[in-house]
Amino acid sequence: MININNKLVNKIYKIYTSENLDKVLDKAISSKRLDKDDLSTLLEDKIRANEIINTADIVNTTLNSDKVSYVVNRNINFTNICHLNCRFCGYKRSAKSKDSFVLDYDEILKKIEEGYLIGINEVCITGGINSKLDADYYFDMIKIIKRNFPALHIHAFSPQEIFELANKTGFSYEKVIAILIDNGLNSMPGTAAEILAPALRKKICSDKINSKQWTKIITTAHKAGVKTSATILFGHIETNPDIAYHLDLIRNIQDETGGFTEFISLPFIPFKTSLRTSVKSNLKADDIFKFYAIFRLYLHNFKNIQVSWPKIGIDAAVRSLGCGINDFGGTLMEENITKSAGGNYGEYLSEKDIISLIRSAGKIPIRRDTLYNYLF
Ligand code: SF4
Repeated sequence: MININNKLVNKIYKIYTSENLDKVLDKAISSKRLDKDDLSTLLEDKIRANEIINTADIVNTTLNSDKVSYVVNRNINFTNICHLNCRFCGYKRSAKSKDSFVLDYDEILKKIEEGYLIGINEVCITGGINSKLDADYYFDMIKIIKRNFPALHIHAFSPQEIFELANKTGFSYEKVIAILIDNGLNSMPGTAAEILAPALRKKICSDKINSKQWTKIITTAHKAGVKTSATILFGHIETNPDIAYHLDLIRNIQDETGGFTEFISLPFIPFKTSLRTSVKSNLKADDIFKFYAIFRLYLHNFKNIQVSWPKIGIDAAVRSLGCGINDFGGTLMEENITKSAGGNYGEYLSEKDIISLIRSAGKIPIRRDTLYNYLF
């Protein structure tokens, strides 16, 4: 008797949630803004991922037609020495570690020269949080790069690095960002966000800036005219409400400032991180595609959602172009963060490769700059 009742309850629940999902997908297709209950319905769904993905594809195609953008860029990580202890990180080293490093300016300029050989128009610069580096190392780095490569777009320093610079100098976030702009900074990565839900954040990166500090620094940058990306690191120990909190905060900031250029979705790579032992099950490609679709549907005020090909591999990155993704990311040339966590999908794709991969998905490749101006 109890079993029959349970079956009945399950059946009614399925019909109810299925009807709810129909309404949410209808809303999304009609370009209506989804609310938190809608987001919860999408996240909780366990049986209709394909429909969610197809809807995201339609919404993306309405917004971006068949165009998929990419950037020819170079990543530079200037140090791997870091005194923080994020549990999802395989990149950080102590100063005593045999493979720790700090790049000097000549090494950084040399890497950019190598980038110029493939025609980069952006350099993306971040590093570990190294207490031994003084503020002038950061400020002068930007000045020297701009002096040597005036046309290059400098996309540098996460909110965590801005926080450290404010601490090192005693300056406000506004002043730190103003100095960087004067020296040649063009835009900033919105990394160090991970998941901004406060309780979860304490579990995965307790010594990083908190959610309020991240928001304050990002909105300060936006108000100073510095565009940033927005990111999410998902697929570890977060819950659906944690993801919902993160997406809602990011969407609200975009409403307020319009300063995000894109949303970059970063699936967690567990292999060489301490967090891996706490993760119940690793993400599968289909789970990732459903998340991409949900990001597209909920973040209606983002034109651009980016896949990270080093995190999921080239084949999955191509498939993601049918799941709401409209940006393939960059050539990168080097990628240390994912590689250090155990990712093995490489760190460089030529522009030619990217064009051909985008075409293989039936899409139209468009080269862009960092601010998503289409170049040709
Ligand atoms: S994620 Fe960045 S801040 Fe955190 S431990 Fe790694 S290098 Fe340091």
